[in-house]
Amino acid sequence: AKELGQNKYQVHTPTMDIESYKTFKLSSDLRSPLTLNQFEIYYQPKVCAATHQITGAEALIRWHHPKWGNVFPDEFIPLAEELGIMSQIDQWICQTVCNQNKAWQEAGLPAIPISINISAKRFLETEMITDITDLLVKNRLDPGYLEVEIVESTLLENNTAVIAVLDGLRKKGIKINLDDFGKGYSSLSYLMSFKGKINTLKIDKSFIDDLSHTADENSNFITKSIIELAQYLGMNVVAEGVETLEQLEILKSYKCNTVQGYLFSKPVPADAFAELLKKGK
Ligand code: C2E
Ligand code: CA
Ligand code: CA
Ligand code: CA
Repeated sequence: AKELGQNKYQVHTPTMDIESYKTFKLSSDLRSPLTLNQFEIYYQPKVCAATHQITGAEALIRWHHPKWGNVFPDEFIPLAEELGIMSQIDQWICQTVCNQNKAWQEAGLPAIPISINISAKRFLETEMITDITDLLVKNRLDPGYLEVEIVESTLLENNTAVIAVLDGLRKKGIKINLDDFGKGYSSLSYLMSFKGKINTLKIDKSFIDDLSHTADENSNFITKSIIELAQYLGMNVVAEGVETLEQLEILKSYKCNTVQGYLFSKPVPADAFAELLKKGK
């Protein structure tokens, strides 16, 4: 801001960075309780690599902002975390997803587990376990139909507290997905220590992007090794961000069981997802 003399500051100078202005406005909007009505959950199918049947879904939040249009989670979740309001948003997401999944089951659609993304800080709060289980009870949803995704970096940052929460969730019957695996560069021996604790490993999109029949052997080999190691540890493997048939073919040859990506479907609103689920693929 430019100083105009006395105590006056000119805020809307043409030189003001539009991005920081947007960030400032979004942060203040996030504090309004009305914002919850502008959120919507989209669902992206997880499909069996061999049969293309839908075997699960991931819930991804969208913010339909009246002025800024669609604001993506990478943009506003860090702001919500800074403001300390992420637990409220997490609760809203979990409630919406449990309620929706129960409604689909009652409508006779195939029952599938749906995973929700949980932000790093939430894993430091033990109340999170009861918060989630209370919502399962309230919506009469079997815990087997809710999964939690935790990014590898969160696990690396704060092990003891996070592991206590993961163990608590697991004891309640909620399955754990390790998200963005490979990005955090955790050692393979570190992954070994999670045997029996993590149900599913999600290979980060950056590895899938590199897959090709003509790529240098190394990049394909890393993905192949991650799949083999995960399966050796009894974990299910999901390849994220699968966009081409070539990637799918390579993943199938590596015995990767589950894939997720634009090749099958982008994340879609609840009604559109219900249509996919009815068709089974
Ligand atoms: P993520 O959990 O790794 O989610 C995968 C992201 O990749 C999603 O972006 C999804 O739309 C996108 N994606 C899926 N398949 C493809 C593909 O084939 N190609 C490409 N280019 N992209 C694909 P999105 O929805 O924008 O979410 C970005 C990140 O924001 C998520 O990464 C997650 O970390 C966070 N996020 C999204 N929803 C939530 C939420 O409800 N709660 C929390 N705490 N974080 C969320
Ligand atoms: Ca995720
Ligand atoms: Ca991911
Ligand atoms: Ca990510």
